[in-house]
Amino acid sequence: MTLRKMIDNGCLSHPLIAELIRLEPTTWFNPALAPTAQALGDVPLSVADVDDAASRLERFAAFIQSAFPETQVSDGIIESPLLPLAQLQAALCAEQQVPIQGRLWLKADNLLPISGSIKARGGIYEVLKHAEDLALAGGLIQPGDRYNTLDSDEARAFFAQYSIAVGSTGNLGLSIGIMSARLGFKATVHMSADARQWKKDRLRACGVEVVEYASDYSVAVEQGRKQAEMDANCHFVDDENSLNLFLGYAVAARRLARQLDAAGITVDQEHPLFVYLPCGVGGGPGGVAFGLKQVFGDAVHCVFAEPTHSPCMLLGVYTGLHDAISVYDIGIDNHTAADGLAVARPSGFVGRAMQRLIDGYYTVTDEELYRLLALMEATEGLKLEPSALAGLPGFLRVLQEQQGYRLRLGLDEQRMANATHIMWGTGGSMVPDEEMDAYLSQGRKLVAAH
Ligand SMILES: *Cc1c(COP(=O)(O)O)cnc(C)c1O
Repeated sequence: MTLRKMIDNGCLSHPLIAELIRLEPTTWFNPALAPTAQALGDVPLSVADVDDAASRLERFAAFIQSAFPETQVSDGIIESPLLPLAQLQAALCAEQQVPIQGRLWLKADNLLPISGSIKARGGIYEVLKHAEDLALAGGLIQPGDRYNTLDSDEARAFFAQYSIAVGSTGNLGLSIGIMSARLGFKATVHMSADARQWKKDRLRACGVEVVEYASDYSVAVEQGRKQAEMDANCHFVDDENSLNLFLGYAVAARRLARQLDAAGITVDQEHPLFVYLPCGVGGGPGGVAFGLKQVFGDAVHCVFAEPTHSPCMLLGVYTGLHDAISVYDIGIDNHTAADGLAVARPSGFVGRAMQRLIDGYYTVTDEELYRLLALMEATEGLKLEPSALAGLPGFLRVLQEQQGYRLRLGLDEQRMANATHIMWGTGGSMVPDEEMDAYLSQGRKLVAAH
């Protein structure tokens, strides 16, 4: 790879690359950030598209409520709470000797029903969209119907003629697999080597076929794609390029807006909103950020977080090479405990579409993820999976930055004092107790040693 040669020759015009190669926690604020009104045009989707996705999820609420009784409390809407993190914020600010400014919250997607991670947004949405297309074409439902009739043997026999395939490091497979199997589809999940055993077991228990690979995520995706190409009745969920996945995630933003409103939180130029999103291939954080930019415009600041061993989106956007570069090309191994974030090559679609809308990117070590996992549990009593903690240090990175980012955006002391910081807690509630206990004891050792 040419970039490798450039580094070896010491003539690299991208100084941050050396930091990434050394696996140091890195923060980069995006000099190409543009006014929302201009940059939203880079995304080939509109407000009407997100409206359409939101109303499709409402149409399916009756089915979801019937098929997944745990969603009865929310009338079949798959949504997570917004929780204050006052104790954790105070603990981290004291530790880092940073004055407490603004308020820190958790968007608790770890508590999302059905699959316990942010993938319950995009992944499930894509399956529902595909099911609706088939059911309308097959005359199983009519426009305007309530879709509770889709939770029936007749509907399952209909969907059994079709299959759905996906390549996944774990959480996407869980969402797609659980929802597909419940509708009656034949579901196949192609899983990378780093996927956890319990996720494979869980899927097999739901009747999903799990195919295992010794290699990483991209290979699992490629194999899934090939299998689907050979079968006209098979729908392949393309995590790297799917507009439907992206739209499913985008719906989160308007729901968050209602929660902020209900909590009495104002978001405008004088009261900025910062949202820190763990990033794997980019569809989840990209879709949520797209939705947020539509709702809040320049008042929202979206920042992506990645493991030091898998900084694929930072690398792609920073070099402008997007999906033409992978972390392997600069000698990084893509080995991380952060499930869902172990991605070597970013989505080219998300990187390009969102490159003027994302304020910044940073990396976190696995040790820090574990340490923060234990701190979260100790201060707030909340259990998240390692990936989900990637968004937590974001508010400190913003408050401690010396790159002129806040100055450039007019984020002065008064505005920072009024700020709302949200870490997107992307997963955790499905992790079996033994695994969570192992995460916690590892994290507690790091807390003690800090
Ligand atoms: C998938 C996932 C992400 C990131 O989503 P991408 O669409 O891959 O960027 C973050 N956290 C968790 C727990 C995930 O499973």
